[in-house]
Amino acid sequence: MSFASLGLIDPLLRNLQKLNYQTPTPVQVKAIPAVLGGQDVMAAAQTGTGKTAGFALPLLQRLVQHGPAVSSNRARVLVLVPTRELAEQVLQSFIDYGEGLDLRFLAAYGGVSINPQMMALRKGVDVLVATPGRLLDLNSQNAVQFDRVQTLVLDEADRMLDLGFARELNAVFAALPAKRQTLLFSATFSDEIRAMAASILRDPVNISVSPPNATASNIKQWVVTVDKRNKPELFMHLVAENKWEHALVFVKTRNGVDYLAAMLDEAGYSVDTIHGDKPQPARLRALERFKTGEAHMLVATDVAARGLDIDDLPLVINVDLPIVAQDYVHRIGRTGRAGASGVAVSLVCADEAPQLAAIEALIRQTLVRREEPGFEAEHRVPQTSATGEIVKKPKKPKKPKVPQVTPGAAPVPGKKSRPQDGENKRKPVAQQDTGLSGVNPFSVKKPRSKSGNKPAAVAGKPAGGRGKR
Ligand code: AMP
Repeated sequence: MSFASLGLIDPLLRNLQKLNYQTPTPVQVKAIPAVLGGQDVMAAAQTGTGKTAGFALPLLQRLVQHGPAVSSNRARVLVLVPTRELAEQVLQSFIDYGEGLDLRFLAAYGGVSINPQMMALRKGVDVLVATPGRLLDLNSQNAVQFDRVQTLVLDEADRMLDLGFARELNAVFAALPAKRQTLLFSATFSDEIRAMAASILRDPVNISVSPPNATASNIKQWVVTVDKRNKPELFMHLVAENKWEHALVFVKTRNGVDYLAAMLDEAGYSVDTIHGDKPQPARLRALERFKTGEAHMLVATDVAARGLDIDDLPLVINVDLPIVAQDYVHRIGRTGRAGASGVAVSLVCADEAPQLAAIEALIRQTLVRREEPGFEAEHRVPQTSATGEIVKKPKKPKKPKVPQVTPGAAPVPGKKSRPQDGENKRKPVAQQDTGLSGVNPFSVKKPRSKSGNKPAAVAGKPAGGRGKR
């Protein structure tokens, strides 16, 4: 199967050649003809399957071949995405695939000034990639009107609902022309997504390239059980032991990100970070440094889980499991892309058993568990299964029997028997001289951050332009 046989025009084929895309991926084989034919599409495709080209290529072709040119404050194709990172990534895909096609592209998302976005929209754009909150802001200020939208794309629809964009999405649907093409892409299909799909899609072509809610089979995944407070040290140990040199590392909190990044830095690794506190230019810079190999390790909160387009990333390490099971699929979707093989390792502590159970139910497999000598968990992680159940609560450790009192060695009755220091048992990192200031955030309960991992949905700045940025 070739891209030419899917009916794509020469300029697109040339751009694909430049990008060294030899053959279409399964989602592209199915989506490209359907979108070219003007049909609605409902696709169960996780990130890494090539879904972006699956909709961007045929839409570019339709923009060139059909319909009126752009007019001021209007967009012809509207792509809704959950995060600014994904907005940037999708924009870049349109720019790459559409090089030389005299089309105008723009990304609009929150967290940055709205004015440049309003300016850019004055002339109108062919493709507007936007987060829902910022799109509605722009619409309410008349910077963009929806009457000329020919195609609506919902990219990572499940994530948009997870992030609480249902109200904004409904407002956008209500404002769009009833006669339009709609494409819905989602890694997972909850009842909520199905209900939304039923209300906005017309006789869609259904595409499922891997079983819904399953992770790509070419990713080797396993779990290492450990006590929470020992996670940073185990992480450093695994990195050194396995000579892992290029990895995307996920941590729950911003403090955790900074803590691990400092440890990596201290150990001589080049490292950068992405989290909700960082301004957008700094995040993009960090991503760029990681992509070019200048930074070998990128430590991130979930804000970075979606939309990071990193080729050939061999390894994802979850130092903390995500709260939402779907995020696991998105996190590890960073590796094993477009047929490459990848590794995803998760450090799991006893508290995280419910999250682990939810993930295993979602991906329909029980993850292999390993223990690292010297880091065995004192708080055992309860057994879980792919049915989503916590199968067996760990047995409470038996109270040690009061041993016979022998002369010369009188034990203290009732005292718990714990492994002795130096007995193949490492000290928690907070007790070690790591040379790092601050407390190990993995051993301290922190108040939940208010904005940490949320994408900005209410502010914005333009990120795209004509061809080049
Ligand atoms: P996506 O699932 O759209 O995020 O794409 C995943 C990755 O696969 C991106 O890095 C794309 O550049 C790459 N990709 C998409 N389609 C192809 C293809 N047909 N051949 C090679 N790489 C591709």
